Amino acid sequence: MARLFVSDVHLDVSAPEATEQFLAFLGDEARAASALYILGDLFEAWVGDDDADAQKARVCAGLRALSDAGVACFVMHGNRDFLLGEGFCERSGCRLLPDPVVAEIDGEGVLLTHGDALCTDDHAYQELRSTVRDPAWQRRFLALPREHRELLVNEARAGSRAHMARSVPYIMDVNTQAVAGALRATGTRRLVHGHTHRPAVHDFELDGQPAQRIVLGAWYEQGSYLSCAAGRYELRSLPR
Ligand code: MN
Repeated sequence: MARLFVSDVHLDVSAPEATEQFLAFLGDEARAASALYILGDLFEAWVGDDDADAQKARVCAGLRALSDAGVACFVMHGNRDFLLGEGFCERSGCRLLPDPVVAEIDGEGVLLTHGDALCTDDHAYQELRSTVRDPAWQRRFLALPREHRELLVNEARAGSRAHMARSVPYIMDVNTQAVAGALRATGTRRLVHGHTHRPAVHDFELDGQPAQRIVLGAWYEQGSYLSCAAGRYELRSLPR
């Protein structure tokens, strides 16, 4: 049975077609898989596990039905939904993965990460990341009333759009040295990540050995997932 990987679904109330397509994917392709790995940014925003949005509740129920059907569901934090916590896990049946993590897949250790930590050329973003990933900052944020958190998150999204609009494209991609360093540090030769929205399979050489970086696609215009069966990896798109 195949293992499936997705990331950057960016589910949001403003894009109901993507939510419908993702729910259909959970009920169809993912049902036939042994495991589903969601490598970050499942949601465009997540203000805390008390998020009351009805579409998000449907997605949690869809994931719960999938895990109840015997498909192991894993979720990793992205830069948008890094506040997914125990409450989300209970509702969805997903297990939270640390970022990065080495997963044993068909007898091979494969490095899984959202990808934002590898974009080391974007210094402003890395500074913001270390602030918001600090447990003390998160405790203070989560203690605010939900309406207040929603306002702050909307402001942060506008700030992020402005930052991306004025940045040169290479800054938004992963840094080659950071990729090599992550593979060397974990003794792995294959990396799967999302975040950059540039789906591709990159074959390269690392210290004289073949290595591979697989980039998952975003779900803004179409569905996108990676399938791995018997050690063979295939990026697939789902037309909308
Ligand atoms: Mn991301």
